[in-house]
Amino acid sequence: MNVADTERAATRLSEAGYHLAETEDAADVVIFNTCSVRARAEQKVFTRIGEVRSYRKGREPLIGVMGCVAQLEGATIFDHAPSVNMVIGTRATDRLPALIERAMGGERRTLDLGERDAEDNWNVSTVERHSPYVAFVPIIEGCNKFCTYCIVPYSRGRERSRRVYEIVREVKRLRDEGYREVHLIGQNVNSYRPKSLEGLEDYQGATPFSRLLRAVAATGMERIKFTTSFPRDFHTDIVAAMEEHWNLCDWVHLPVQSGSDRILRAMRRGHKVSDYLRRVEAIKNAGRRIALTTDIIVGFPGETEEDFEDTMRLVEACQYDSAYIFKYSTRPGTPASKLSDDVTGAEKTARFLALERLQREIQRGIYANYVGREVSVLVEGESAKSAEDMTGHSSCHKVVNFKGNKELAGKVVRVRILEAKTNSLYGEMVTGAKAHTA
Ligand code: SF4
Repeated sequence: MNVADTERAATRLSEAGYHLAETEDAADVVIFNTCSVRARAEQKVFTRIGEVRSYRKGREPLIGVMGCVAQLEGATIFDHAPSVNMVIGTRATDRLPALIERAMGGERRTLDLGERDAEDNWNVSTVERHSPYVAFVPIIEGCNKFCTYCIVPYSRGRERSRRVYEIVREVKRLRDEGYREVHLIGQNVNSYRPKSLEGLEDYQGATPFSRLLRAVAATGMERIKFTTSFPRDFHTDIVAAMEEHWNLCDWVHLPVQSGSDRILRAMRRGHKVSDYLRRVEAIKNAGRRIALTTDIIVGFPGETEEDFEDTMRLVEACQYDSAYIFKYSTRPGTPASKLSDDVTGAEKTARFLALERLQREIQRGIYANYVGREVSVLVEGESAKSAEDMTGHSSCHKVVNFKGNKELAGKVVRVRILEAKTNSLYGEMVTGAKAHTA
């Protein structure tokens, strides 16, 4: 989401006549787009502001802070870091050019924590996108879920879904511009609920999100991925849509956070282990293999050894392709910050390592199963590790490296897997094969 916000901010600025400076040192305006999901990221931004200030002494640029830290901290940022000129909240991205103008005009503390404009401008120009082949398309912003450990509902506000026709039009345009893959993104994509369902075909009982998936698939975009999905809103019609359309890629990211009902309740996740497992079963029973990934927090306040064992059992049962595991840390401003952080650091580390070991073992088996099989890979560029190798993602969202040349960048190719590594696959390109399917 942050990358997408940066692309959008850069587009608004270039429309207003600004252009990106080659280096930070040459910039007249430096804007920090910030994340506050973890308290440490928040502290980092103040260190970076201090760095810019000290090496640009005597020729200071205008400094702005946008994103979640800006929304949450507001005017206090000016006290904390007096060299900051602008604080731009999460709903003020479209107003960025006007805010810079105000700051350039001499306003000392330019602050905008206001609501979104009635007509948000989501347009992102091609030159500002992070990749010429893969594009992020936000479909929903904000979150209504209020999990007790999470700051997002406070920093991003309530859920707001983009209009159907806007999304479909954007994907068609991206397809015409030569993009091969889009990621429909949002804090919870499957909570998608636009004000009007116009443009979505009616399927009996189908959720707006699965109907949107079908509409986006019908654009003919070569590969479509979506992230992140919220377990409670993950209905089987999503799997049905994926089975119907090959261009809906075979990957679902479904954060579970804990395998203990007691802890899920304390986290206020709105789902039980049994609900979650039912959804996983639907994914695993699909007509083609769908990769499953997740997020897990260990050491949430009150988590006992038994709760943790439940999480281990759930991970064993779900056989995730990969998992992001986090040690719980108190996030000020969240309901959970009022709970006693009673799992010791040593216990959190031990649980983290045990879970990581288990996941690595599961992953080794899953990745090894790919050896000898062919996958379709969107080639994104040269591998960072070897100039002779190209790298990209499979439709099941695995990093795949293979021997190849730069001319392949932007193409979807078939790769036969020869070797499974911990977090990636290595293979050889299969020429003459149809670069389709998983
Ligand atoms: S669903 Fe929960 S964890 Fe995800 S963004 Fe919303 S509040 Fe945060």
